[in-house]
Amino acid sequence: MKIASFNDYRVGVVDGDSIYDITNTLPEFLAEIPRQRINWLINHWGDMKDVIARYRQGSKAQPLANVQLLPANPAPQHVFAAPANYQKHIGELGDRVVTPGGRSARQQGFFLKAPGSLVGASGTLQLPKGSSRRFDHESELAVIISKEARNIPRDRAMDYVFGYSCLIDATMRIEKGVAEEERSMRKSFETFTPLGPWIVTADEVEFPENLSNRLWVNDELRQSANTSEMIVGIEELIELVSSVITLQPGDVIATGTPEGVGPFVPGDEVRIEIQQVGSMSLSVVETDARAPRAY
Ligand code: MN
Repeated sequence: MKIASFNDYRVGVVDGDSIYDITNTLPEFLAEIPRQRINWLINHWGDMKDVIARYRQGSKAQPLANVQLLPANPAPQHVFAAPANYQKHIGELGDRVVTPGGRSARQQGFFLKAPGSLVGASGTLQLPKGSSRRFDHESELAVIISKEARNIPRDRAMDYVFGYSCLIDATMRIEKGVAEEERSMRKSFETFTPLGPWIVTADEVEFPENLSNRLWVNDELRQSANTSEMIVGIEELIELVSSVITLQPGDVIATGTPEGVGPFVPGDEVRIEIQQVGSMSLSVVETDARAPRAY
């Protein structure tokens, strides 16, 4: 099943070019905290999947093109991300690399992106106005966690995967010796984490570590790899993250980017496509947000 968040945080099931609004199957109290609907649904999925299937039979779909798609999960408690998790990406950024010595996710573990930096497939990628910095795309498979859990052993990790989504890990690059802000800041500008267009449930992706992962800027193919090339696989990532902190239903783990990371500028169109998961395209614009200094 493909689960999407749309318009004012309504919840839908996507089928081809249509979306079924299933918000009315969810408890009324969630209307007070609509951003939490997807987290609640994931946490109660065992009971809800049949309720949704029955509800859908009697409901009318609307064209997907008529709705505004929000982040596939608008309010995960955590957004974890693996750095340097594809061999050919390591070192490709030269002086701008923050992982010297060829260290990969195996040595470095994970970092965090602010959940507030999420944006959906109908959104835009917003760069600081007039910036002279370089902003890069990173094309990543996102894993969505199903259950609250700590210390998940590797051999049971896939039991804690609810589904998958496409994630662009947008990044402001460092300028060596000039501007070297913390990674979490450079990757947490508002809209710097497109997540979508939906969550495809795990039962529809038999081999998540054998999916093509591609990204285009305008019509130019910039990144093209396969999730089989990850250094630290999905199971090991879940084991690692959950050894540090308790995972929550709806948490997101960005599994890292392959080679081909490169810049985008206002006016560009950035498109990510992950096999069996989906694709989405976002326009790059400048934001009007005021900055206390030039980024
Ligand atoms: Mn990344």
